[in-house]
Amino acid sequence: MSNGFNVAVVGATGAVGNEFLRLFEERNFPIRNLKLLASARSVGKQMQFRGETLTIEEATKESFDGIDFAFFSAGASRSRELAPAAVEAGAVVIDNSSAFRMDPAVPLVVPEVNPFALTPNTRLVAVPNCTAIILLVAVNPLQALGKIDRLIVSTYQSASGGGAKVMDELIYETEQAVSALRGVPGDGSGREKVLPHPYAFNLFSHNTPINEHGYNDEEWKVIQESRKILDQPELRVNVTCVRVPVIRAHSESVTIEFAGEAPSEAQIREVLAKAPGVQLVDDREANAFPMPITASGQGDVLVGRIRKDLSHPNAISMFIAGDQLLKGAALNAVQIAELILNTGQPIDSFA
Ligand code: NAP
Repeated sequence: MSNGFNVAVVGATGAVGNEFLRLFEERNFPIRNLKLLASARSVGKQMQFRGETLTIEEATKESFDGIDFAFFSAGASRSRELAPAAVEAGAVVIDNSSAFRMDPAVPLVVPEVNPFALTPNTRLVAVPNCTAIILLVAVNPLQALGKIDRLIVSTYQSASGGGAKVMDELIYETEQAVSALRGVPGDGSGREKVLPHPYAFNLFSHNTPINEHGYNDEEWKVIQESRKILDQPELRVNVTCVRVPVIRAHSESVTIEFAGEAPSEAQIREVLAKAPGVQLVDDREANAFPMPITASGQGDVLVGRIRKDLSHPNAISMFIAGDQLLKGAALNAVQIAELILNTGQPIDSFA
């Protein structure tokens, strides 16, 4: 492989892991050697990268000797177990799981929003929850128009947010449901279910545990992580997270309440048109607004349906959609690594 860094991907076989490989190629990330790690189940499987065949190895604490960047996307318990060993071995760890996000010592970074949270000593960076990233890429630029006091968010979250098995479940259940509608008996395979409810032609409250306040884990992450990223511990956030039968890309209905009178639609459009990582899709005449199908495969967060909230003088509403496997996970992680490389931050200690 070319000159560059020794890179490891933990969780390479997963939905996010696959996107890492595509992004490294697409963005020409400087890689000398790429090590693909997953569970013992995947040892020996092969994946293609830049025309080479790479073989999956099991992720263990010994996997990180000589690694410069380790991208983790294998769940929070794997990160808790293996990320400290990777840091100890000298790697910069960029972690997509929730393991370290709320640790005050760990920067929680969306490059368009808070790149300054990285410091020269950063060895471990957390990638925020996908729903929070998509939300903040769209909301943060509006702080230029006035202090934001409160966010009211409803989400429409896709199968890919739950990983490869949930995507497979949606496809399988859709096929079965269509067969049933046509009067054809299902395959009766008794397939093991990942989600707790029927998924095809249905939607349900996000499938994470509910806490003592009545919020599920996903909602709680959006609240806490948004406050940390924006450095606004008092920010009021009301969020309802819902899983919908969409294969890829999350959508969110967002109402933003400012401390004073809301800016005009023209001001909002002007700011968002220039905002990094944002694409305006706001054609009232054509009734064309952000959709998950158009957000899929894109790095940008699509923003539209921008309008005054006629029920409150301080509020505006909009609708957004973003590919949570990309901007909500792998792309955000690669952008963090690029930021570290471009500013020469912790990289100076590399051999
Ligand atoms: P996924 O498709 O289910 O993939 C999980 C990956 O983790 C697979 O590569 C799997 O390897 C690996 N893994 C599981 N158990 C392991 C073990 N004991 N040791 C080593 N590797 C193990 O899930 P995903 O959607 O890619 O999500 C992965 C992580 O990214 C999670 O922490 C998730 O919260 C986070 N994330 C996901 C999204 C998203 O949109 N999906 C967004 C933001 C963050 P095998 O193939 O060998 O089982």
